[in-house]
Amino acid sequence: MHELQLVAMGHAEAEMAWQERGLCAQTDPEAFFPEKGGSTREAKKVCVGCEVRQECLEYALSNDERFGIWGGLSERERRKLKKRAV
Ligand code: SF4
Repeated sequence: MHELQLVAMGHAEAEMAWQERGLCAQTDPEAFFPEKGGSTREAKKVCVGCEVRQECLEYALSNDERFGIWGGLSERERRKLKKRAV
């Protein structure tokens, strides 16, 4: 394989690694994408103890993720955070 391809692959893997360490990977993923008006409490509880919370939140913010709980914040909370940041 071309050397550059290998470098690119390594980079992609490094970027994905935090998701594998995310606690939500071991729990019910549905809790992280509640129905409109549904409870986000369970998901947030999991995020509190998650070691990649920061990476997760940054990923969601930079990719403009609209749905679900990321890094312990709901979409509304992330919107607020973004507004404050600009
Ligand atoms: S912070 Fe929450 S949503 Fe993000 S990986 Fe950890 S448990 Fe999952």
